[in-house]
Amino acid sequence: MEKQDKAPLRLDPEHQFRFQCRPGISCFTQCCQDVTIALTPYDVVRLKKAVGLRSDEFLDTYTLTLTKENRLIPLVVLKMNEEDKRCPFVTGEGCSVYDDRPWACRMYPLDMNDDGTFRIIADPSKCLGLKETETWQIGDWLVDQGVPIYDQMNILFSQVTGPLRAQEPDIDNPQIFKMTFMALYNLDRFRDFVFQSTFLQRFHVDPVTIEKIKRSDVELMKFAFDWVKFGLFGQKTFQVKQPEPSKGDNE
Ligand code: SF4
Ligand code: SF4
Repeated sequence: MEKQDKAPLRLDPEHQFRFQCRPGISCFTQCCQDVTIALTPYDVVRLKKAVGLRSDEFLDTYTLTLTKENRLIPLVVLKMNEEDKRCPFVTGEGCSVYDDRPWACRMYPLDMNDDGTFRIIADPSKCLGLKETETWQIGDWLVDQGVPIYDQMNILFSQVTGPLRAQEPDIDNPQIFKMTFMALYNLDRFRDFVFQSTFLQRFHVDPVTIEKIKRSDVELMKFAFDWVKFGLFGQKTFQVKQPEPSKGDNE
């Protein structure tokens, strides 16, 4: 096994590392403060359910949206408490949303490189779990932390973000920014939009899908990704309904 202080920057899933995080360790919950945790749409789906809020309430209460000029999809990050810079979900006993904690928290002390390899991002002088004797193979660690379902959902998200990075579409209509953000992150608002506007009169959506997106946030999120791909990239993920012929047309 590699000496951890000099852990290589590209580790594959077979690589082993020493780690155990547990209550009682002197650094317990220290990593849950003053940290930038970017949230994916799936992170928001899980967290808003964990705290029992609608997506708009969750976003207002617990996140910051960092916009950048010409960047269509802003960065959504967890908002740390103003007074002590701690995560709003951390308690003396640990993470209060542990089962639904974000991808980045599941990965820690690791992070993923752009090429799909991994690296240890925690400082071993601060994250004392890296000095514990328990040994993990990275692949097993990821499964143990519940990362694979997040990876599956994030791959779907990257099908939206990837082309945007590659194409840099020239969009300056603020309405498109708003709609894109709503579809990706504000799912309960997007559901209202689908069911309370003329959306279903304008697009073919089969009845099974309608039932699925009524009941399941994950299905709605996939539907919303398709909607963004249709709107931004012109992909044929939606079919526009033809207007009904008026009565006099065939006479
Ligand atoms: S969500 Fe949980 S694990 Fe992540 S920073 Fe907050 S308290 Fe820590
Ligand atoms: S710093 Fe490392 S060992 Fe300490 S609580 Fe955080 S993840 Fe666990």
